[in-house]
Amino acid sequence: MDIHEHQAKEILAGFGVPVPRGGLAYSPEQAAFRARELGGTGWVVKAQVHAGGRGEAGGVKVCKSEHEVYDFAKGLLGRQLVTRQTDQNGKGVYRLWVEEATDIAKELYLGFVLDRKSERIMLVASSSGGMEIEEIAEEDPDSLVRMVVDPAHGLVEYQARELAFRLGLKGDQIGQMVKAVRACYRAYRDLDATMVEINPLVITGAGDLVALDAKMSFDTNALYRRPQVAALRDPSQEDSREAMAHDNGLAYVGLDGDIGCIINGAGLAMATMDMIKLSGGEPANFLDIGGGASPERVMTAFRTVLSDPNVSVILVNIFAGINRCDWVAKGVVEAYRAEGLTLPVVVRLAGTNVDEGRKIIDESGLPLITAETLAEAAEKAVAARPKKAA
Ligand code: GDP
Ligand code: MN
Repeated sequence: MDIHEHQAKEILAGFGVPVPRGGLAYSPEQAAFRARELGGTGWVVKAQVHAGGRGEAGGVKVCKSEHEVYDFAKGLLGRQLVTRQTDQNGKGVYRLWVEEATDIAKELYLGFVLDRKSERIMLVASSSGGMEIEEIAEEDPDSLVRMVVDPAHGLVEYQARELAFRLGLKGDQIGQMVKAVRACYRAYRDLDATMVEINPLVITGAGDLVALDAKMSFDTNALYRRPQVAALRDPSQEDSREAMAHDNGLAYVGLDGDIGCIINGAGLAMATMDMIKLSGGEPANFLDIGGGASPERVMTAFRTVLSDPNVSVILVNIFAGINRCDWVAKGVVEAYRAEGLTLPVVVRLAGTNVDEGRKIIDESGLPLITAETLAEAAEKAVAARPKKAA
């Protein structure tokens, strides 16, 4: 799960990372008020969206007057911001972060990620900040510093000092860097983050270290024990199909194809997507309805899959162990009737109560397409797609 920059800054500040003072705004009036409240002569107005690359996309502006803050905020709020990290629809801008402008002398990069190879948290830093990490890796790879953190000791002081030296920091900046990187590490570890990125981490004109941008992502599977993090979720920034599925407790990932999938078990769902591809089709989604799928749950799964306008065929593939084929069949029939479906639905049932399940499908009188095997189901789904006009 991703969070907004202002939320990440608040979290990191709580662990001891220096950030500029700022305030949230949901309207141009509020943005201008924030500027006045902060005082000074320069402010940065920043679109709060779950994507980076805002600067070059026109989502960040350094303003010199309250009028400028107002006008920029007015032009930005309610817009879809398209950046190199979003799709072509962009992300809706519904809140802005207004902060005191910082006088930048140098931009650094600091990130924490999970390195699966070493099974450790890895720190990545560079003296070439401002650019994205991929660009730094391409244009200035020698500037990259990587350090793996031993979980038994945590990020220890000498490691942090070595990092500061390798980034070319001097005097007071070294102590500030040690404090900031250790704070980021603790935030990452204590809150079950999967990523912390400060880009840029700047040295100000006065020589101090400040986090000008902040990004954090969290392990969704750990949110149950981090309610304070879970509360930061912003559904306006999520794929609406995924937000709906999440609210209904379904494991769903939206994809670009047109074959809607309703499947039980993550492994079977992956295998089914492979079979669809092998048969020449493209899945519209990954959806695992899980064990013990009641007819109601199957209905919800149908509604979720149908909320994607690209779906032209639905493939239901159930291998019932804990599930019961008759329940799933009942859900399919009810959903078909309730939603007044006209698009083709392919159903493949196997496992517990399969005979009862098939009977319900056969006796429904609905034009459901049945299949015996996974391969047959995928082929039938691909074949059932309406032919596009050439
Ligand atoms: P991103 O493009 O989404 O990563 O957004 P950032 O928060 O990193 O902002 C983009 C760029 O705006 C930064 O790399 C800075 O160069 C610039 N910027 C942000 N805040 C300030 C500020 O307080 N003063 C100045 N002069 N530039 C800023
Ligand atoms: Mn940035």
